[in-house]
Amino acid sequence: MLSDAELDRYARQIIVPAFGGAGQAKLKAAHVAIVGAGGIGCPAITYLAAAGVGRLTIIDHDHVERSNLQRQPLFTDADIGMPKATVAADAGRRINPHVDFAAHIVRLTDANAEDLLGDTSLILDGCDNFTTRLAVNRAAVAREIPLLSAAIGAFEGQVALYHGWRADSPCYACLVGSDPNQEGINCAETGVMGALAGMIGTMAALEAVRALTGWGEPLAGRLAIVDMLDRRWREVGVAKDPGCPICRH
Ligand SMILES: [Zn+2]
Repeated sequence: MLSDAELDRYARQIIVPAFGGAGQAKLKAAHVAIVGAGGIGCPAITYLAAAGVGRLTIIDHDHVERSNLQRQPLFTDADIGMPKATVAADAGRRINPHVDFAAHIVRLTDANAEDLLGDTSLILDGCDNFTTRLAVNRAAVAREIPLLSAAIGAFEGQVALYHGWRADSPCYACLVGSDPNQEGINCAETGVMGALAGMIGTMAALEAVRALTGWGEPLAGRLAIVDMLDRRWREVGVAKDPGCPICRH
């Protein structure tokens, strides 16, 4: 299933016992949709591509701006004004030609979720607004796709994994509610440290690989919180809301 070139490329992770050749084969068979090719998406795309996820679909309606370059290192000055999804997919192909990329220059909505997500095995959401995050969550619950959700503030980051269609497992709306107009994290207003975006996007990529290949302690139903103002890490459980309009049974 893996060519000699692939075995050579992925040798350093294949020799990790908890991952192994079986993990590599699972990654190659996987299809990850990345919503948002921004501060979280750029490092996530980088490491998921380099690790050998078979198919990566990048969904982002936005274009590269100069103020993105401080924390979105797949983009350069020459890309300003270009669609992020396309530029990120081209950069990903340079990182690993074995990966099959698709780029969609749209916002994910209830209307296009089915077309965009197709046979996705996991969604990694690093987008910058609640409206899209809530649409992604609805699609993930309805289509029974694991949702790896990552977000950042100026110094804080959060990563969680949701299996909201399961009777005992929360969805993203169980944590944040269903109001798209609530106060949220907005980089344009709060600011963000670039390396924090790299750290949380990379952590999201690693948790996506864990979710797809199954080693160690699963993140499902838990929220990992990083506070890099004072360098504190903690993890809390997320309860399923019995009244959640998205995932209640
Ligand atoms: Zn829910």
